[in-house]
Amino acid sequence: MHNCLYIVVPCYNEQDVLLETAMQLREKVLRLVSDKKVSRDSKIVFVNDGSKDSTWDLICQLHKQDKIFIGIDLSRNRGHQNALLAGLMAVRGSADMVISIDADLQDDINAMDEMIKKYNEGCDIVYGVRNSRKHDSFLKRFSAEGYYRFMNFIGVEMVFNHADYRLMSRRALEALSQFNEVNLFLRGIIPMIGYKSDVVYYERSKRLAGESKYPARKMLSLAFQGITSLSIKPIRMITILGVVMFLFSIAMFIYTLIRFFGGFTVTGWSSLIVSVWAIGGLVMLSIGVVGEYIGKIYLETKGRPKFIIKEILKSEEQDDNR
Ligand code: UDP
Ligand code: MG
Repeated sequence: MHNCLYIVVPCYNEQDVLLETAMQLREKVLRLVSDKKVSRDSKIVFVNDGSKDSTWDLICQLHKQDKIFIGIDLSRNRGHQNALLAGLMAVRGSADMVISIDADLQDDINAMDEMIKKYNEGCDIVYGVRNSRKHDSFLKRFSAEGYYRFMNFIGVEMVFNHADYRLMSRRALEALSQFNEVNLFLRGIIPMIGYKSDVVYYERSKRLAGESKYPARKMLSLAFQGITSLSIKPIRMITILGVVMFLFSIAMFIYTLIRFFGGFTVTGWSSLIVSVWAIGGLVMLSIGVVGEYIGKIYLETKGRPKFIIKEILKSEEQDDNR
């Protein structure tokens, strides 16, 4: 009855993998329907995040062939987090539960059965958690796991090894829509919603086809976004650092006086130079960190839209597939 499922898939330049993904997801949904786990009006929603290749044409084609596919076209590339949010917000009135998944199907779609089972048991949010990273390079694994630990350390509640593969109920989506932040890091704000949640473990595999759309630059920027949009601990650390350095300078002052009266003032040139550079560097770094936060405040106060939808392909408008 109340189990209409929408699967939301953000896509950026995914022409190599899209048809295969669509086929596998369709098969999955049809199986779920025939098993009576989800209702017949369940859908698969592709959000085109301003792709430069033929991704949108493929989505139009899919929609034309089968109305199980819905397409949402953003006005330009806004990044994975915004594209995903656009999809979630667009469908939140129609679906009882929404599962978000990447277009490359690195996340095992068979974990969906268990997610739905947990939803039926009363969970509003079910996080997909990868139970191994054996397909990731050493560097990626090391940095990703270190990042989750660091986030925990600075007080951000995050589900370890969970990316954006998750199920959310309609109620959880309504709650998410009340978060107005422009600096978006979904996996950090979703645990803030509360409600009953659970995790489902799955094996994460390699990309089906195509290349990663998350080069190191985008990944670093997402990681940074996570820190600065969810915690002000870095600013506090700077304050603590300042206090420590001040205390240290008092000790240095006393030490200098002793040296002065001892008649050894010329020595210590190297330590002087080293401290000039070290302190200069720390000051610049600190101003930079504070500046980052001011930049974020600037963007938040403007309250610009996080995404703009150009076109939605839904079954009502069947032949609108320009
Ligand atoms: N993606 C997006 N906009 C972007 C970059 C990526 O919508 O600007 C989507 C992409 O199409 C995919 C998901 O985000 O569905 C995750 O990207 P990818 O699989 O390349 O990241 P990785 O798994 O390598 O971290
Ligand atoms: Mg991927």
